[in-house]
Amino acid sequence: TSLSGQQIRQKFLDFFASKDHKALPSASLVPADPTVLLTIAGMLPFKPIFLGQQKPDFPRATTSQKCIRTNDIENVGRTARHHTFFEMLGNFSFGDYFKSQAIAYGWEVSTKVFGIKPENIVVSVFEEDDEALAIWRDEVGVNPKRIVRMGAKDNFWVSGPTGPCGPCSELYYDFKPELGDDDIDPDDDSRFIEFYNLVFMQYNRDAAGKLTPLAKQNIDTGMGLERMAQILQGVPNNYETDLIFPIIETAAKLAGIKYKKANESAKTSLKVIGDHVRAVTHLISDGVVPSNEGRGYVLRRLIRRVVRHGRLIGIEGLFTTKVAETAIKLSESQYPDVRKQADLIKAELQAEEERFLKTIERGEKLLEEVIAKTKKQISGVDAFELYDTYGFPLELTQEIAEEKGLKVDAEGFEAEMEKQRDRARSAHKSIDLTVQGSLDKLASDIEVTDFLGYTKANSKATVE
Ligand code: ATP
Ligand code: MG
Ligand code: MG
Ligand code: MG
Repeated sequence: TSLSGQQIRQKFLDFFASKDHKALPSASLVPADPTVLLTIAGMLPFKPIFLGQQKPDFPRATTSQKCIRTNDIENVGRTARHHTFFEMLGNFSFGDYFKSQAIAYGWEVSTKVFGIKPENIVVSVFEEDDEALAIWRDEVGVNPKRIVRMGAKDNFWVSGPTGPCGPCSELYYDFKPELGDDDIDPDDDSRFIEFYNLVFMQYNRDAAGKLTPLAKQNIDTGMGLERMAQILQGVPNNYETDLIFPIIETAAKLAGIKYKKANESAKTSLKVIGDHVRAVTHLISDGVVPSNEGRGYVLRRLIRRVVRHGRLIGIEGLFTTKVAETAIKLSESQYPDVRKQADLIKAELQAEEERFLKTIERGEKLLEEVIAKTKKQISGVDAFELYDTYGFPLELTQEIAEEKGLKVDAEGFEAEMEKQRDRARSAHKSIDLTVQGSLDKLASDIEVTDFLGYTKANSKATVE
């Protein structure tokens, strides 16, 4: 039998505790650093230490950190591996061990603690990092054909235009080692999944871009708990792991459908619900309330997407508190606060769900206006506007249009959608830790599907 998500988390923390790392609880999703919107990585609570602003009480630490990445929202339910909410397992060295030891630990935890076979692992190094390559090859004994050099986009970490930075080395799981070592492309996600990233913080970058070696070199790492669960539980995606699947089953039951038998779009909706319900449960538990700005805006978007996807698969009536209860059950042993806050979580969810249903009614009136001005076919731009600003899925617009003997330009709609995806993709490249950066991303990345009662211009203005 395979390891549960809970066991994976514990084994990771226990392993690093046995190597003299201080095991700390997850910090809040709301960072102590007021310039940062949400906790997006395990290193964030340690940022002042890495920046040299704070002295650590211990030279090594290990955590399982709750994270939210809004820049991955478009990927949720579409890739097998991306969430908005996930946990990042990490081991950290504050001026203590460095590259060689971090690589040795990374290999040991992956192959010995989790039992992944060496032939199922591929590693990447930064293209100029000959040192890391030599460690993997000569000290660990990895087949050189399974060590891939990658560019700065994936394998050089920076926290901002200036400050500590350094090359990374990533571990990928190979689902198809039988395909051999000659044609290895870690970006091929039908074959590989990245599960662990080791960051070697070894330089300081000045305003002119010049890199100077740091006196105290640091290690920052991140292993996706849900991805490790996917690998070890032998399921096709993160959503079918024991960390998330019970939420999907609750939602499927409410919709009167079965996940395994559902069509692709219903499966995607179930995955979106499975992902977002965890996110909103933890956001409210960490003190965020729905609003039109900042973190509250992220929360509002996520709740409304849950409601909309619930409608898409045929759930009727108020339901968010029911799926949230499953999410609370799944996390209460690790995060007792979530159970303590259960009443508050449910009250906030239900209130937001009710507000959203009222705005949908208003959106329907606006659709009537579009229909009144349309002769034959609702344009792609209008259909997209209804979708983007008022939360109307294309199918709903089509359905209502059909009743009036009208068509909808679905291709034009897709073209508008693609434009939005391009905007989101170009913003994905790096993670900007500042509040302004995160909010700019949010404005461009989040699929603005469900924000009723505000014009697009207004809704953007509220986050700026
Ligand atoms: P990817 O290339 O797959 O988007 P990444 O390189 O952006 O991942 P890192 O920033 O290196 O990810 O984060 C460290 C680890 O955290 C990753 O190796 C992965 O296991 C996990 N992780 C990152 N983003 C997500 C996400 N959106 N959902 C689930 N796990 C994630
Ligand atoms: Mg990513
Ligand atoms: Mg990556
Ligand atoms: Mg990475």
